[in-house]
Amino acid sequence: MDIAREVLNIVVVGHVDHGKSTVIGRLLYDTKSIPEGAIERVKRISKEKGKPFEYAYLLDAFEEEQKQGITIDTTRLQFRTDQRDYVIIDAPGHKEFLKNMISGAASAEAALLIIDANEGIQEQSKRHGYILSLLGIQKAYVLVNKMDLINYSEDGFNEIKQEMNEFLNSLHVYPLKYIPVSAFFGENLTSQSDKMPWYKGESLLKAIDLFEKEPGLEGRPLRFPIQDVYKFDNRRIIAGRIESGTLNVGDQILISPSKKTTRVKSIEYWAERDKTDSVSAGMSVGITVADEFFNQRGEFISYAHDEPLCSETFRANLFWMGKNSLLRNKEYKLKLATQEIECEVISITRVIDATTLETIEDAGQVNTNDVAEVIMRTKKKICFDEFKNNQNTGRFVVVDGYDVSGGGIVSGLVEAIQTVNKFAKSELQMVVNCFDEYYYVLSEDTVKKLQGRPHTFSVGDVIPVGGQTYAYPEDFNVLDLQAQLVAKVRKAKLHDIVKLSAYDYDSVPMIDPTGSFLRVASKGEYLTFANEVEALHGSEYTKLAVFANKWLDFSKYRRIQYLKNITLPELEYQI
Ligand code: GDP
Repeated sequence: MDIAREVLNIVVVGHVDHGKSTVIGRLLYDTKSIPEGAIERVKRISKEKGKPFEYAYLLDAFEEEQKQGITIDTTRLQFRTDQRDYVIIDAPGHKEFLKNMISGAASAEAALLIIDANEGIQEQSKRHGYILSLLGIQKAYVLVNKMDLINYSEDGFNEIKQEMNEFLNSLHVYPLKYIPVSAFFGENLTSQSDKMPWYKGESLLKAIDLFEKEPGLEGRPLRFPIQDVYKFDNRRIIAGRIESGTLNVGDQILISPSKKTTRVKSIEYWAERDKTDSVSAGMSVGITVADEFFNQRGEFISYAHDEPLCSETFRANLFWMGKNSLLRNKEYKLKLATQEIECEVISITRVIDATTLETIEDAGQVNTNDVAEVIMRTKKKICFDEFKNNQNTGRFVVVDGYDVSGGGIVSGLVEAIQTVNKFAKSELQMVVNCFDEYYYVLSEDTVKKLQGRPHTFSVGDVIPVGGQTYAYPEDFNVLDLQAQLVAKVRKAKLHDIVKLSAYDYDSVPMIDPTGSFLRVASKGEYLTFANEVEALHGSEYTKLAVFANKWLDFSKYRRIQYLKNITLPELEYQI
């Protein structure tokens, strides 16, 4: 594999027989990544056994080759497109996959979730969706496979898409694309299928090239956990490994959780040739700072504008391997980066058997090889990140006595119970109703609104641009006149939040926080709009209605869907 080329790790999941091996076989075949002669061999063996040729068998042939040590790696299948290289992370069993992902032995950056169009969504499809949520894998495509078995029907595809989207959204997984394919017949794999002219999206191979690679650790916010502080010639040298980001001499830095700020005075070096003014992710370094605070092991150095999370409680997903079960309120030791601290599990929200992925009801403890969603509490405040934002500072181990007994990933802070959806960038917060669904309830002859599952989306998070009753473009801005903020969504991710006063019209479609399109198509129109907004202050509703009718278009990205009656318990507001 070419070092200079970008590599993306993909995992392929789905219910047994829904077509994982066939999709993988096809991807390998269509990108000419199959070893010489493998196809002929599989064809010959199929013929000898009197069975028709199957792309899925290519995987077996591959495994055979790997066993003989002919190809590179025993667990990883690779293919390449013009754009980059791909590694298919093998998920031989859920247990190994979960364990490897949580411990860092494997890292899947994107996922393909395969559903058989004919059989529809099965329990296992949902459980695999849950794995994506558990591991914070945000980039996912759903492949609706075996479209040939339902005559390439658009309605059949839409039905599965809607049902799966509803389920995945409830887990805060927002698939970026749904692609109808027939892996067996190669429809919509390398090129657009003429059997499904109604599908306007990309073929699978084009689509996977669109998975956006996250910046490497160097390009992420600075995280420099202090390993030790040495006294040397009357100077205090702070030593450690830079886990992410870049640090320069002269930089203003923040030390957490004590929240002290100071400046980097020097980066130390042994030999003159190692002298540098800038160090970055992966390097072990020693620095001195301008103020001689009492700094200690475990503290995190970052920049003030993108500091780590600091708290004594957080939500985590744990893989437990201990001989003894994990118990609530028992004292363990937690190690995260250079921090080591007593901790306890104060709440076990859900336990899942890692082999079958079945949920264990009312579990009071976590047994060996179970995965659990828990709330952890440490004796003192510690620093960390959400795993999805930083794998090095979002991962920890739990030590029981002297044994490492569990691995965990941080899924977030413990928030107060939330009642509305929000976009947030530190103190810049905006309430958004644009993910609410609107229904015309026939039995009541009225339109009602179903609130989306309340959640806070931070910068970098994938957001649900497509719902049942709305579809926003991948790039748009949300303009909140009340909070005086503009949220920028790019490639279906919350990209930034800026103050309205700092916003420059950028030609990207705009909506208001309820999802109404803003009829602004040029800089000139934007200025007129801004002037009218200025004049609106304190206006009564009549004026507001005139303004709204002029500038807002509720139905551009939304539609109101008919419902027989309200059986959905969450229907909350009447409009
Ligand atoms: P896995 O268990 O998810 O890896 O599923 P396989 O790839 O082994 O596929 C299971 C069966 O479904 C095999 O017999 C495949 O030939 C068949 N299959 C896979 N894709 C398609 C498809 O697009 N159309 C049809 N008709 N059959 C398919």
